[in-house]
Amino acid sequence: MRFLDAAATTPVRREVLEAMWPYLTGEFGNPSSHHHLGDAASRALAAARTEVADALGGRPVEVVFTAGGTEADNLAVKGLALARPRGRRIVTSVVEHPAVLEACDYLERFHGFTVHRLGVGSDGVVDLAEAEDAIDEDTTLVSVMLANNEIGTVQPVGEIAAIAHRVGALVHTDAVQAVGAMPVHPAALGVDALSLSGHKLGAPKGSGALWLRRGAALEPLVHGGGQERGRRSGTENVAAAVGLATAVRLATGPEREAERTALADARDAFVREVLAGLPEALLTGHPVRRVPGHASLCFPGTSGEAVLLALEHDHGIVCSSGSACAAGSDDPSDVLRAIGLDREVAQTAVRFTARSAEDFDGAAADVVHAVTTVRSLAG
Ligand code: PLP
Repeated sequence: MRFLDAAATTPVRREVLEAMWPYLTGEFGNPSSHHHLGDAASRALAAARTEVADALGGRPVEVVFTAGGTEADNLAVKGLALARPRGRRIVTSVVEHPAVLEACDYLERFHGFTVHRLGVGSDGVVDLAEAEDAIDEDTTLVSVMLANNEIGTVQPVGEIAAIAHRVGALVHTDAVQAVGAMPVHPAALGVDALSLSGHKLGAPKGSGALWLRRGAALEPLVHGGGQERGRRSGTENVAAAVGLATAVRLATGPEREAERTALADARDAFVREVLAGLPEALLTGHPVRRVPGHASLCFPGTSGEAVLLALEHDHGIVCSSGSACAAGSDDPSDVLRAIGLDREVAQTAVRFTARSAEDFDGAAADVVHAVTTVRSLAG
């Protein structure tokens, strides 16, 4: 099998599993317990927090462990908006992950906020002029993702944060697809909160964190024993935190830069070869401002689902289509529609995402073959 679906999830790395193992077995203490097992768990949790903070250039107190990216996004969007007595306006973008969009919808429906959803250009980049107009004195929170999961486009989050801070609004960014794929430093970006997820990085599903600038007020979503400094109650998942920290350390750092360049080169070569073999195919997202392992292509005259099946059955390639299957529908995704693709073309989208350059080896010829087969069967 060739796995080209790394934006969906990744396997747990051996080093991550090894780091977690003691906290699932012998060192199974509850970090709140006052005996040696509790102390060991509490020390492991503190070390994991420091490791995540170091990778992000932040402080340990700024890291809140969560059960994944969806929870981190919800905690940021709802927690920051509800903690602020300031304006009732939230600004986000139309290409956000549902974890952000649905959290905004909830605030609109049940808490009287108004939500402005910024549009994007055909490259998937949010419109900065629209952001300038939309982010006003009444804006409490701006939430714009760092890298898009469907088309890989990297957003100008630093510029958006500067606009927001001029009027005193807080800024959250969903960096679930960015951490490990590009350097991510919340303070340098100027954001107040940043979400990450472990399973995109070789840590288990259900691990994640919210980086929250020290001093930012947050209304918790989960009430209870006051763990995570009251920001997220519940006995801490020590093993998941240790696993997340290990994965974040292994996936970040300047020494990863050469691998990212090699990955981007392999991705570009893959796209070039596919487009040479299938001249009517179309790369979606920004040509340059995109995460390195990400290629999302449309193949007019096919259906994304049919190409997906042909790739898996005939070539052993596993990847994603662009339809909103998550919701159990085969409607084309909102993101693809937002970048201006018409319904028929959007339905032909296939997403190829890799974590290492070798994953793309030989894949282009298989894609050309699979698409040609599907098209000949359709014709
Ligand atoms: N945000 C983005 C951009 C994502 O791609 C994902 C997962 O696909 C999430 C949030 C949700 O993260 P999790 O699966 O850890 O809940």
